[in-house]
This record gives sequence, C-alpha cells and structure tokens, in this order.
Amino acid sequence: MTLRYPDYFCDFVCTGSGCRDNCCKMGWDIEIDDDTLGYYREHGGELCERLCENIYEEDGAHYMSQEGGCPFLSAEGLCSVQQEMGAEHISEICREHPRFYEWFGDYKEAGLGLCCEEVSRIVMTHERPVLFTEKQTDEAPDDLEFDMDIFTAVRNIRDRLIDIAQDRGFTILQRLALICWCTEDINEALLDEDAERLKKISGMLAIDGFRMEIAIQAENEALTQAEDKPALLMRLFSVFERMEYMNSFGDRFALTRADAEKMLGAEKGFNKEYADLQYELENILVYFLYRYFIKCTRDFSAEERLYSAVYMTLAVRGIFLREYAENGALPDKESRIELVKDFSKEVEYDADNTDMIFEDIQQYDDVRDMLCGLCF
Ligand code: SF4
Repeated sequence: MTLRYPDYFCDFVCTGSGCRDNCCKMGWDIEIDDDTLGYYREHGGELCERLCENIYEEDGAHYMSQEGGCPFLSAEGLCSVQQEMGAEHISEICREHPRFYEWFGDYKEAGLGLCCEEVSRIVMTHERPVLFTEKQTDEAPDDLEFDMDIFTAVRNIRDRLIDIAQDRGFTILQRLALICWCTEDINEALLDEDAERLKKISGMLAIDGFRMEIAIQAENEALTQAEDKPALLMRLFSVFERMEYMNSFGDRFALTRADAEKMLGAEKGFNKEYADLQYELENILVYFLYRYFIKCTRDFSAEERLYSAVYMTLAVRGIFLREYAENGALPDKESRIELVKDFSKEVEYDADNTDMIFEDIQQYDDVRDMLCGLCF
C-alpha cells in the first residue's frame, strides 16, 4: 500500500489532560467497532461489563452512550479504558481520531482533522507550504470499487489546485478566485467522465501564464460586475448563520447590512495586517482541497467540493475580519487557532451543516460570481 500524508502528520501528539476542548467531552456518537466490542464481551471483568452496559445498537452498528461526554474519561481528562487495558483495546475511532483516511485500492491517504485544537495549532503555525509525502506500508489493498482513470485524473487536478492554493505570488483571495474559475470546467469534464479533458485542464493549470491570465480575467469580471459587496458578504454569512451549532458560535455569522459595511470598510487595513499571516488560510484551503476533493472520484461532486472549500475558507477569513473590524486589531494567534478549531468542529464535522453548503451551491447558478465578488 502507498500511503500519502501531509508533512505535519507525524507531528501530532494528543495533549490529553492538557487539552482545553477534549474531544471525549463533545457528546459525539462514538462507534465501537466489532473487534473491540467482541473483546469487551469476551474478556469480562468489571470495566468490560460497564463498557458493554454503555454501548447501544443502532442500524446494526454499535455506539458508546455519550451524553455529556464519554463516561470513561477520568477526572484528569485521560481515557480510563486505555489506561487500564491499553490503546489496542479502545475503539478504532478513539485510537485514530483526529486522523482521517481515504482508500483507493492499494493507495491510501491520511491527514489530521482540524476539529482538534492541537491539529489546529499545527496547521495554523505551519509557515512553509505544506508538502505531501508518500511511503510504502504492508496494509492489504482496499476492495471498494473506483475508476482508476478518473481517480488518477482527479488526483492530478487536485495536485494542481493545491499548487494554486500555495502560489504565494498571488494573494489568498486571488488564489480562491482562481479555484472558482477552474471549477466549472473541472466539474463538466468529471460529469462527462472525460479523463483526457481532466488531464488537459491539469496541464493548463500548471502553466504560470495561464494562472495569471485567469486571475486578471476573474478580477476584471468581478470589478465590471461591481456587485453589491455588503450584500454578497451577507449572503455568504447567511448560509453559516442558518446552520445548527452546539453553542453560540453561529452568532458570529448574524450580519446586518451595517455590520457588513463595517467589515468591508476595515478590509484594507485587515489585508495589510494579515498579509504575512496568509499562510494560515492557505493551509486551511489546502486542508479542505486535500481532504475532500479526492472524494469526487466516487461521487463526481467536483463543483460542490471545490466551491465549499472556498465557502469555508472565506468564512474563516470573515470571522477574523469581523473581529478586526469590531476591535480594531486582529484576534491574536491563540484566538485564531481556537476559532479555526471551533469552525471545524461546528461546521466541517457536522454533516447536516456541510450539506447546507452543498445545497446552497446546487441551488444557485451564480455561485462563482458571488465568491469572486468577495475576492476583489
Ligand atoms: S481534541 Fe485533540 S488534543 Fe484534545 S483530547 Fe482530542 S485528540 Fe487530544
């Protein structure tokens, strides 16, 4: 098996009792895999009995009851099951979180999910462009079907999109607009299952001059259309405002026209102060592209996956910009790390919420204009 992963993948170490937002306290439904459940049932003993009492079945799968957090989290914020029985006897999801994986035959991708505060710290402090590495492992190939030609073309296109996201000759907003401008072509080629055309697009995107040309075209069009920018910002934020949140995080997206005008009035100052920190949003964009775009090999939803990466990156930038407009200063690094972690936890890790972004993209045919209008 070839395993691909970002260069920071091996830097992650769970901070356990030092974590301020322990994932074991989220109240998420934690699936208990069959092997782990079998061990608890067979092994016996007081702890295994208590574990079995707290596991319930739904649609053939088993979950740990989690109201108010995992009942096996110790007062020190550590996993008592792991302490007593070892990491090999906790559920696979507990052992792997916040790592994520995607399989295509004898090729596997791995990454770290942004909903964890330690991962957010790693991603938000990674100043150099993120690199991806591959190594060979002895894991057996996965047997879920996929089209190899489409997969190869999608992976190549994604590499080019990541190049664009990391092209520091452009501002982060220009890079977002560039991605929006390629989306329609990529989507059409993928829906036609036209691997050759995808290969051609990939080749074009590798050419610096071509990127410059579309960046100029995107900017000219956005400026010619001269959209009502406060209205565009309110439209973007309204998608996130309508979502369901575990706490008051969603209030950040409630925007009056006066709020939007204030934010846009402060944008020039924000861009100047944030100029040297753009790698933060770059890394977030790369994370969304790397993690989610490859999935369109199987579901063909290139448009939704590319635009939603832009929606979410612009939303995070919008949160920072709003704080800047309201306080006259950027939120400090610790606050930005926490905001990104909270955004991921509340939006990215909630399938109903990400579905709302997909629905918005599917509902309107002027998504590119809306997003590009916000980039210039
Ligand atoms: S959120 Fe991350 S650092 Fe915190 S307990 Fe979970 S895995 Fe560990």
